[in-house]
Amino acid sequence: MQTMKNKNKLISRSEKKADAVSKESSSSQVADKRKWAEEKLQLEEQRFRTFIENSSDIIVLMNREGVIGYINPAVETVLGFKPEERIGAKGFERIHPDDLPLLTDVFNTLVRDTKSPVLQGEMRLRHKDGSWRTLEAVGSNLVNNNVVEAIIVNYRDITERKKAEDALQESEKRYRELSIIDDLTQLYNSRHFYAQLKREIDRSNRYEQPLTLLLLDLDKFKAFNDKYGHVEGDFVLSRLGQVIKRCLRDTDSAYRYGGEEFTIILPMTTRKEGIVTAKRIQKAFRKEAFSPVSGQKVYVTVSIGLAQFKPKEEMKAFVHRADQIMYKAKNDGRNRICF
Ligand code: GH3
Ligand code: MG
Ligand code: MG
Repeated sequence: MQTMKNKNKLISRSEKKADAVSKESSSSQVADKRKWAEEKLQLEEQRFRTFIENSSDIIVLMNREGVIGYINPAVETVLGFKPEERIGAKGFERIHPDDLPLLTDVFNTLVRDTKSPVLQGEMRLRHKDGSWRTLEAVGSNLVNNNVVEAIIVNYRDITERKKAEDALQESEKRYRELSIIDDLTQLYNSRHFYAQLKREIDRSNRYEQPLTLLLLDLDKFKAFNDKYGHVEGDFVLSRLGQVIKRCLRDTDSAYRYGGEEFTIILPMTTRKEGIVTAKRIQKAFRKEAFSPVSGQKVYVTVSIGLAQFKPKEEMKAFVHRADQIMYKAKNDGRNRICF
């Protein structure tokens, strides 16, 4: 009996010991797991921090009033400020005044609507040195996200890309201009003449507005060239181009139609009003003295045909009519205006 009791005691003691050992080992396992999880979290946090702090994009956390709570070091590379100079400041302070109204609107939409999608915008921001940088911003409202609790905006510097785009646009524009401008006279060329005349005819038909066309041709220009040379002749053409430009309104347009022939489109102009313009050009060009030979003054004259557009008339017929009228001026003795 005694031995039995002792045996029981022995068993229960050893059980308790085993139990304690197992409890101990399981609690150390939990501690290990927790430590491991913490380390993992720390590592992850470190990774994200490194990632954000080395990002070439500016990353900003703002509150609903636009006050910066966090900004990464990219702000120094892009805008010249140390992060601590911007934290606590308003993100909107350095936006270009022209971009401000639209961006204020976008920001307010973002603040109002926590479910709003990611919003995107382009803006100019003032660098610490006073220059403007163009940035592309992407913002999302994470105010309700209990980790972030902020408006988060990502800014990418697109200044150089923008400059390249602008330069390309400028050169395309220049190229387009060059392809429609005559080198010698700086007036438009004949290709552009037909395109513009078609537009004006359409407009005249649609709005029943008058439209007048002038066709100018230098008188006895072959003889001038033969006598004084082609270079002197070019000079006359160039000078006539300048005179014509001076005599026109903004809405009128002049073209070098052929070698020594010019056309002028006068939109919203009647025949009577067109005559005034033709006379102005003729009078101005009469005053232009050329000196192909030193000590000599040579004057060149011009014959002008004028036609007012007839509703529904074909473009070709209209130009041909102006041409015929100009030839009448030639036949009548040159240096005159016919209509
Ligand atoms: P008309 O009074 O009948 O118009 O006589 P014109 O001699 O002006 O007419 P024609 O058509 O016989 O000759 C036109 C001349 O214009 C021929 C050419 O010598 C000259 N010409 C055409 N294009 C140019 C140019 O680009 N430069 C120069 N210098 N001359 C040109
Ligand atoms: Mg001619
Ligand atoms: Mg001629």
